[in-house]
Amino acid sequence: MTSPRIYLDYNATSPLREESRAAVGAALDLVGNPSSVHGFGREARRAVEAAREAVAALVGAAPAEVVFTSGATEANNLALGALGGRGLLTSAIEHPSVLEAADAGRLPVDAQGRVDLTVLQSQLERREGQAFVSVMLANNETGVVQPIAEISALVKAAGGLLHCDAVQAVGRLPVDMAELGVDYLSLSSHKLGGPKGAGALIVREGAPLVAQQRGGGQERRLRAGTENVPAIAGFGAACRAIDRDFAEGAAFQSWRDRFEDQLLAIAPETRIFGREAPRLANTSCFANPFLPAETQLIALDLAGIAVSSGSACSSGKVSASHVLLAMGAEPALAGSALRVSLGWASREADLDCFLEAWGRLYKGNMDRRRAS
Ligand code: PMP
Repeated sequence: MTSPRIYLDYNATSPLREESRAAVGAALDLVGNPSSVHGFGREARRAVEAAREAVAALVGAAPAEVVFTSGATEANNLALGALGGRGLLTSAIEHPSVLEAADAGRLPVDAQGRVDLTVLQSQLERREGQAFVSVMLANNETGVVQPIAEISALVKAAGGLLHCDAVQAVGRLPVDMAELGVDYLSLSSHKLGGPKGAGALIVREGAPLVAQQRGGGQERRLRAGTENVPAIAGFGAACRAIDRDFAEGAAFQSWRDRFEDQLLAIAPETRIFGREAPRLANTSCFANPFLPAETQLIALDLAGIAVSSGSACSSGKVSASHVLLAMGAEPALAGSALRVSLGWASREADLDCFLEAWGRLYKGNMDRRRAS
């Protein structure tokens, strides 16, 4: 008997939406280079520009503000180069594509994973030259949502610029660039049900930006290289699909809350990270001191259930997450953390399968501990 395959790792990546599959397939048949002036080229250009409109509409931006990239890692690197890497301040819980892209001051977070605004304020006061702050909208490991509009008010009062990695939030929360007050916003297609290998940096009109990849006039000279037309078309289709199914967030919240209540009923000593903070409804990050992450990942994988320990971006290696350590978790507990994340094709029954497998693993482990 083959076990069911249950995918609960949407924060790592999402299965492709049907709309995106169709758009990718159609774009693969477009012969032209979008920079060519002939009819073939203009057809490819139309596909790119239609996607640009869909991406812009999803985040309340103008199409001219969208710079297509190969993904959010590139978008983050591009944004952080805006001031030549000078004056940068990031939170301690950013994705490595922000943390490693520039030598920056780090803003601490509290035990719930929220950036400390008083530290931000005092750092801004002490800065010489223009500050450039980068804080993510929602964390990929815990789902904790940062108060970006409040952060923007502080950064703007100090005359600074604000970048926001919105990869995990877009499609899960309504995101409006102007309401958030950010100058740069990073997005990734594959987290939204689009294909891998496309993303965008939204650059507010008038905000400075220095191209990191040169050698062509594409993307208003901000990102040289022939556009990945099929992936961009699929990205646009995913954005249009999301616009329609925003309602999923409300269902996820009640599923996730019931899921966490049941986890605690099975194993009351389990710690759920960021539970008191505003969080994405699709994400649950938790640790049990008796179950190392690796043991859980292997047992769950054997049961056909895919979840993640901390961030899966550099998977293969299970080490304590910098996010949970920054929240003050003990290294041993942080090394036990598991992340369950839902998305467009999830069903509530997927969580029940997880609970059954996890409960069995936990009980077996506790029985062995008692016997030894
Ligand atoms: N930022 C965050 C918060 C992410 O979760 C990820 C993907 N793990 C990235 C950036 C990088 O995105 P991409 O895979 O498109 O390079």
